[in-house]
This record gives sequence, C-alpha cells and structure tokens, in this order.
Amino acid sequence: MEIVTRVREVRKALGDDMEILVDANQRWDVATNIRVANQLEDCALYWYEEPVLADNITQCAEVARAITTPVATGENEYTRYGFRDLIDNKAAQFLNPDIHRCGGFSEMMKIAHLAAAYDVQIAPHLVPELSIHVLVAIPNAALVEFLAGSPDDLWVDPPQIVDGMMAPPDRPGHGMEFSAEAVKGYTE
Ligand SMILES: [Mg+2]
Repeated sequence: MEIVTRVREVRKALGDDMEILVDANQRWDVATNIRVANQLEDCALYWYEEPVLADNITQCAEVARAITTPVATGENEYTRYGFRDLIDNKAAQFLNPDIHRCGGFSEMMKIAHLAAAYDVQIAPHLVPELSIHVLVAIPNAALVEFLAGSPDDLWVDPPQIVDGMMAPPDRPGHGMEFSAEAVKGYTE
C-alpha cells in the first residue's frame, strides 16, 4: 500500500532517532488498519492515531488489541465521560483531548487524572498555546501537538517550540492575548 511505502521512506530519511507518528484520521476499517499497522511494524512508530470512525470505540479497541504500535485517539471526544468510555474499552494508550471540545481546562484536568489511574498518557489535540498549561501540571503528559505556523498570527507573543520543547507563557491565567490585527481580520 502507498501509505506503507511513504512511511518507510520517511523513516529512511529521518533515521532511527526521530519519532514518527501516523494518523489514519478515521479513514479505514478494522482489517485495513491492522494490515497497515502490521506492515509498518519495522518503522517503530510512536503511535497509530484514530484508526476508525471516532464514535466506534469498540472497533478502536479491536485495532488496539491487534497491533503492537500504541493507539492514540480522543480528539473528537467530549467530557470525562467520553474519555472514561475510551479507557473502559482499552481503546488507546494515548488520549488526545482537544481543549476546545473536551470541556476546557477543568475538564481536561479531570480527563488527565482519570487517565493517570490507568497509566494512559495525554497528548492534547492542537491548541498547544492553551494545552501546554495542562501538560506541565500532570504526571502523564506525552507530548504537545504543534502545527508549524498555526497560532502565530492569532496571538500576541505565543509560546514557541525551541529545540523540540515548549514552555508555558509566564503570565497570569493562560497568558494569551489575541493580536489586534488578527481580531480586525475577523470583525471587518
Ligand atoms: Mg488527528
């Protein structure tokens, strides 16, 4: 399959010291996911993300049971109750709560603590400028997801990735302020 060839090429280009994460983006059925993940075993992936439709927790668990690469999911899940269902079903070893969807800071902290009791790790979906505050406050933080260039035009002085690491802003509250220029773009 083309995906297998592509990921193998990426592994070859990056060498063995760089982590590679694959996101199926809810695209395949259980059998296809298992086939792809098994073929990619030699690439030593860090995780295999959202194998099946996000609402189908039992199928996600089926994939997680069948493959050796850890599964990540949760960017489309809501509240601690949704994440409890993922954990109950052993659907993933990494959870990706999105701070906009899962219920904000307080709910994400509850999700993270619930996950900690099961040794499940937290890697929030995007919004790193807000999620970073949760990650530095929990014992089971895996990584912060960052898309190059994503928050820079929206915020005044957003936290940056330096040598692969991000620190939260040293300002009161979440410390983020919209740039006047960005707000103008959405209001005029
Ligand atoms: Mg994703």
